[in-house]
Amino acid sequence: MNNSGNLSLNAVPLITDGWMQGAKIIRSQHFNRRPEGEISLLVIHNISLPPGQFGGGYVERFFTGCLPVAEDPYFETIRDLEVSSHFFIARTGETVQFVSCLDRAWHAGKSCFDGRGSCNDFAVGIELEGTDIVPYTDFQYRSLKFLTLALMRTYPDITPERITGHQNIAPDRKTDPGLSFDWKRFKNNLLSQC
Ligand SMILES: [Zn+2]
Repeated sequence: MNNSGNLSLNAVPLITDGWMQGAKIIRSQHFNRRPEGEISLLVIHNISLPPGQFGGGYVERFFTGCLPVAEDPYFETIRDLEVSSHFFIARTGETVQFVSCLDRAWHAGKSCFDGRGSCNDFAVGIELEGTDIVPYTDFQYRSLKFLTLALMRTYPDITPERITGHQNIAPDRKTDPGLSFDWKRFKNNLLSQC
């Protein structure tokens, strides 16, 4: 079996003061304070830049306001957006953190969960490197499992019922993480210990 390039988590990490131990930290300036300090929802997304291309490092640069707009025509269309997520899980399973979980990252936009709007106020956002149609990697499912378990342990208001996709909280605007995301596999993974 060839494990080269596998940077997946292999245990449930600790989260201390909002930062996950073992994550690659790339701080984004795209955040502000949570108005109530509440952390009670997990939102799964996907992103790839340019769309459908993986591994170029552009997502990290986009979330930190450093996107080199001359390098791809698509970048011109998003150059003025100020967005971020707390976490990004690359195809390799590598987990990057941009914003402390204690702060509000800017990932959900106009959104509504269970009758309540402005989900960024109380949500943690995880971006999977991917598209709505390309299956996610085993490495990503593994890292997502351990990160989710860490979040649920640290912030017990994030219950299984309060884990959702961007497409569910902004259905008129968003389609991610898409049909390519296997929710059953993900939820079953949370119940297994290995
Ligand atoms: Zn999204």
